[in-house]
Amino acid sequence: MSEASIYQTLRGHLATLRLAAVAEALPAELEQASSKKLSHTVFLERLLRREVDATLARRQVSLSRFACLPSPWRLADFDFSAQPSVDKDLVRELSSLRFLEDATNVLLIGPPGVGKTMLAVGLGWAAVEAGYQVHYTTAADLAARCRKAAMEGRWANVMRFYAGPRLLIIDEVGYLPLVGEAAAALFQVVTRRYLKGSIALTTNLGVSSWGHAFDDPMVAAAMLDRLLHKSVVFNINGESYRMRAHRARAEAARMVLTP
Ligand code: ADP
Ligand code: MG
Repeated sequence: MSEASIYQTLRGHLATLRLAAVAEALPAELEQASSKKLSHTVFLERLLRREVDATLARRQVSLSRFACLPSPWRLADFDFSAQPSVDKDLVRELSSLRFLEDATNVLLIGPPGVGKTMLAVGLGWAAVEAGYQVHYTTAADLAARCRKAAMEGRWANVMRFYAGPRLLIIDEVGYLPLVGEAAAALFQVVTRRYLKGSIALTTNLGVSSWGHAFDDPMVAAAMLDRLLHKSVVFNINGESYRMRAHRARAEAARMVLTP
């Protein structure tokens, strides 16, 4: 076979194997290999690395999409000096993602505006960037999705969906009352993931008020028991970051306006 027809056959192999990145890089890499007299091993490694890089980049894009994280905040963006009740060392430890290995949960408890969502999302991005499957939902969306699935006879599917990701972020538990079906859905998800996959949960409810927020205090107690069994808890009791920014603006305006 001539060199040209071997080249065509090779391109055919790459198309069959769907190695698009290799196919694209092939002419330039062949050129480099001959001009730099690269060994077969070096040439092959350079070529395959293109495909590996492209595959990893695609996986990253699909993990990012699946995660549905609502903002771009990373843990590095969190201003610890503004929120001294958040233990910086503990956040640093969590950012190593070891907690995902033994299905430890993270509970972020505190009033609105103190950075609970920001921390949960920051953990989410750290996990996505490390190649873990993550999914973010609010408690209200989780309840709505479960309700819809139940009506359509897809309960088992939706439970499998929420059991799947290595990290499930459930934001804003307790903002809306968790009664009836909504409470049952959340309880099922927590139970399915218990000791299998981490949950990062944010809530304005102190642990002692969970009983009142759910119509069935037994369900609330059982859920808390599972969540807390292996968990890291942040009780954030500082002031709202939003209000702080408002105050700083008001202060600045006043200083400008008062002679
Ligand atoms: P929560 O979920 O507790 O209600 P958020 O995480 O939504 O609060 O924070 C409210 C806003 O303030 C967000 O825009 C967030 O990025 C910002 N924020 C809160 N805490 C901090 C912080 N310590 N450093 C930087 N930004 C913060
Ligand atoms: Mg929030």
